Amino acid sequence: MAKVLVIGAGGVGSVAVHKMAMNPDIFSEVVLASRTLAKCDAIAASVKQRTGRDVATYQLDADDVAATTALLNELKPALVVNLALPYQDLNIMEACLAAGVNYMDTANYEPIDEAKFEYKWQWAYQERFKEAGLTALLGSGFDPGVTSVFATWLKKHKLDSIRTLDILDCNGGDHGQPFATNFNPEINIREVTAPARRWEKGEWVETPALTIKQTFDFEAVGPKNMYLMYHEEIESLAHHLPEIERIRFWMTFGDAYITHLTVLQNVGMTRIDPVIYEGKEIVPLQFLKAVLPEPASLGALTKGKTNIGDIATGLKDGVEKTFYIYNICDHEEAYAETGNQAISYTTGVPAMIGAAMLVTGTWGGAGVFNIEQFNPDPYMDMLNKHGLPWQVKELEGPLEF
Ligand code: NDP
Repeated sequence: MAKVLVIGAGGVGSVAVHKMAMNPDIFSEVVLASRTLAKCDAIAASVKQRTGRDVATYQLDADDVAATTALLNELKPALVVNLALPYQDLNIMEACLAAGVNYMDTANYEPIDEAKFEYKWQWAYQERFKEAGLTALLGSGFDPGVTSVFATWLKKHKLDSIRTLDILDCNGGDHGQPFATNFNPEINIREVTAPARRWEKGEWVETPALTIKQTFDFEAVGPKNMYLMYHEEIESLAHHLPEIERIRFWMTFGDAYITHLTVLQNVGMTRIDPVIYEGKEIVPLQFLKAVLPEPASLGALTKGKTNIGDIATGLKDGVEKTFYIYNICDHEEAYAETGNQAISYTTGVPAMIGAAMLVTGTWGGAGVFNIEQFNPDPYMDMLNKHGLPWQVKELEGPLEF
């Protein structure tokens, strides 16, 4: 029974708060704070209507460490679940240290003017969280999050060691818009336009963005083109599971998405450095975000399924084996349950589960942790019970590309 403060009233925050409210035995009190109070209030109204539970709401600029610390001192939650943007991570971690509260997020810190997707800034907090006797759990969404838990589960139950790991992220959903992103457009476009990096034999191998493509037949979706990308969990998995020789991340995109993105990139609209427009500094990608559909508005329109999982090859009792572990999530079912599409759902449910692991004391410890450092079993049980059931099957051999 714990009080939790969620920061960030976007699609992911909405799902997490709904799912926490559905589990009053774990989350006795859920509080939501974000930059725009009206968005918090809309989520609280939906939660009340769907579950009968009250969610207190607060306006908060989480970049203001003093304001966040003051709110934490007033509310005294057991945990802060940071579902704002990656830019806020360090400021919220500072406030947690100042107020003596545990911390969790779903995306690693990003400086506003550099697209890096590196853990170094958050890992640098290790000693301070350790000394304070507080836990910081980094990356409890789907990817990062569930995909890393899938890897540790395979290592615990199916393989003695993992040699190669491929993370396959397929969104087979269709929202009917010419161009839109399924989560925060600024973060999404930063990720997709960054050079593709994979981990191979102890080194990073880099190729230009969206240049390596494969077709894969996803269960419940069908054949899709997927592109090699960098994704932040590759760094933490390579660090915590150094036995893995090669780690790659793939994400599916339709041809229309790639064409739009290429044009936007060619004309400079995805730039994250400021330009002067009519005497004022603007960042092209932030302006683009302002004219694109809000991801939350796509919920009612999106049909189809996501299929996200891991393919791992390694040794079991001296014999090489390959396993595929994945979850399939339906956009319309996700929308019916919480009023949000499956991308927000597949992130918000693991955020709730990560929070449950910490507040029940199932996971814990003093310091900064990535999710693959904990026992995967209780997390995997909760995925099955709370809307993200998974399946595992043995493949005939390793991926041939
Ligand atoms: P949204 O843009 O929909 O929501 C972000 C929310 O944070 C908005 O309500 C925004 O407020 C609020 N916010 C932004 N800045 C501040 C601030 N300074 N203080 C307080 N609140 C602030 O994003 P999503 O819900 O799609 O994503 C949320 C997080 O989840 C992101 O960090 C994203 O990277 C991560 N994510 C992780 C995934 C995973 O699998 N691990 C997958 C998808 C997302 P306002 O409405 O006023 O702008």
